[in-house]
Amino acid sequence: MLSADFGNLQRDIEMLNASECDWLHVDVMDGVFVPNISFGQPVVKHIKKHARKPLDVHLMIVDPGRYVNDFKEAGADILTVHYEACTHLDRTLHAIKDAGMQCGVVLNPGTSVALLEDTIQLCDVVLLMSVNPGFGGQKLIENTYNKVEQLRALCNRKNPQCLIEVDGGVNTENAPKLFAAGADVLVAGNAVFRSADPVKTIHDLKQ
Ligand code: ZN
Repeated sequence: MLSADFGNLQRDIEMLNASECDWLHVDVMDGVFVPNISFGQPVVKHIKKHARKPLDVHLMIVDPGRYVNDFKEAGADILTVHYEACTHLDRTLHAIKDAGMQCGVVLNPGTSVALLEDTIQLCDVVLLMSVNPGFGGQKLIENTYNKVEQLRALCNRKNPQCLIEVDGGVNTENAPKLFAAGADVLVAGNAVFRSADPVKTIHDLKQ
């Protein structure tokens, strides 16, 4: 949703409702954990009002454990938090599950997949950042393919149900390669919203 037209959110959400996309990915940025500020719970609430698909809310904020219940109330179905932003990651993941949402950990490009060894069992999804978070429209970092493969091996060993999600610079060219490496969920922002035919681009990504 970060790449949507914020002046025409309802129109863009209706386009997504009618498309083949599975989830709406919502990036919340606080201007501290990442340089940019996007939006908070009031906007998520409005997105929820129009969306007919699950909201996958990605918190790029410091100490996200403080806001678990707020984002549940705002309408999040899946809530992911950064490994780098949580002092008590295990506690925060349990809090998300206890609030009735699916939970996940997000890793920045510089954070090793090996650090998930003790939390992967709790995760419904792990989100790998394929760019340094904070802005839309960046180019996918090549090392992402290795990380997806490493994560796939870790999931096979400890939590085969866990979904692998990739966020940042995803487009129709790199999507097949990410899928082949083991990714289950691809987040596309600019590739969709800057496309002349977003519905077709979503279809092409799904193919
Ligand atoms: Zn995101």
